[in-house]
Amino acid sequence: MTQPSQKALVPFVSVDQMMRLIHHIGIEDMLRGLADRIEADFRRWPLFDKTPRVASHSDVGVIELMPTSDGDVYGFKYVNGHPGNTKGGLQTVTAFGLLSDVATGYPVLFSEMTILTALRTAATSALVARVLAPASSRVMAMIGNGAQSEFQSLAMKAVVGIDEVRLFDTDPAATEKCAKNLEGHGLRIVRCKTAEDAIMGAQIITTCTADKQYATILTDNMVGAGVHINAIGGDCPGKTELAPAILSRADIFVEYPEQTRIEGEIQQMAADHPVTEFWEVLTGAATGRTDARQITLFDSVGFAIEDFSALCYVRDAIKGTDFFTPLDMLADPDDPRDLFGMVQRAG
Ligand code: NAD
Repeated sequence: MTQPSQKALVPFVSVDQMMRLIHHIGIEDMLRGLADRIEADFRRWPLFDKTPRVASHSDVGVIELMPTSDGDVYGFKYVNGHPGNTKGGLQTVTAFGLLSDVATGYPVLFSEMTILTALRTAATSALVARVLAPASSRVMAMIGNGAQSEFQSLAMKAVVGIDEVRLFDTDPAATEKCAKNLEGHGLRIVRCKTAEDAIMGAQIITTCTADKQYATILTDNMVGAGVHINAIGGDCPGKTELAPAILSRADIFVEYPEQTRIEGEIQQMAADHPVTEFWEVLTGAATGRTDARQITLFDSVGFAIEDFSALCYVRDAIKGTDFFTPLDMLADPDDPRDLFGMVQRAG
């Protein structure tokens, strides 16, 4: 009987295996490693195929595909965003992804990406803050204490060197969960009753809330000179977090403008509102922070290259480990033209 040949088995990293991998590497080392991998790929940005993600919207959320390729390796992520999900005990964001070999089109990795998305989003935020936030940044306000919040906090500690995180969420239970989870990780944790309280003394302000509307998590008078804003939650048409007046005062840095103008905070601004592509700051083609009073804003929406980098990191990290399962997901008969024969013989 013709069996699928060994070469067609695809390494699959399950949720359980991803969690074991994180413990094996150590979460802060993994966040640093992901930030370095994303930085390396951002530095070769022009090499990649780029397209705004393909989104299917509904009244309650969005389901998206995020593809890219560097010419040798192709990757995509499936991801959803459903702000109402948590009320029913479900995650707002879930994801999985795949890498394949451009030369053959054969998949080389299949992986859970719900946890990996939280890690790569946090690593990207921290990479950007390492470059744009004031060099003296030690305190971060974390507004929105849901699924992403601990990852964001630990990445800012591991990559930027913050030592205090000031938590605020409209749901005190979320703040309590985040504070408890962060205990023992070497951060001073301050629970705050308002967003205004959370941003007191913070050099970095992260907004990471979920609501499918034009929300105003930060008003103009809340944002003082010299801060870095890491705006994570506004990542969909009709879903923003910042008052437009803040965008007018800030220098705005984005991943891929064609996607961010559809999904990011800047959907509230004119189509030609000036923005800087962050990869150009890394290569020296554009300037980042130029003075201490400047407000820098990372209008994060999440771009396919970050997922590609994260999947490549995992592909390399699982080599020589048992943190994956070989998956029989490709029909690959010994005689490539005898697909039907293989099916028939299986009977
Ligand atoms: P989540 O639902 O787990 O947490 C969101 C939290 O925000 C909740 O605890 C909620 O109570 C709180 N919140 C809602 N409105 C608030 C307000 N006005 N003030 C303070 N807190 C408020 O969601 P999550 O998985 O943590 O994701 C957060 C957001 O980040 C989502 O909108 C998601 O789409 C987005 N996201 C962006 C990226 C990216 O790359 N930019 C990646 C992942 C997730």
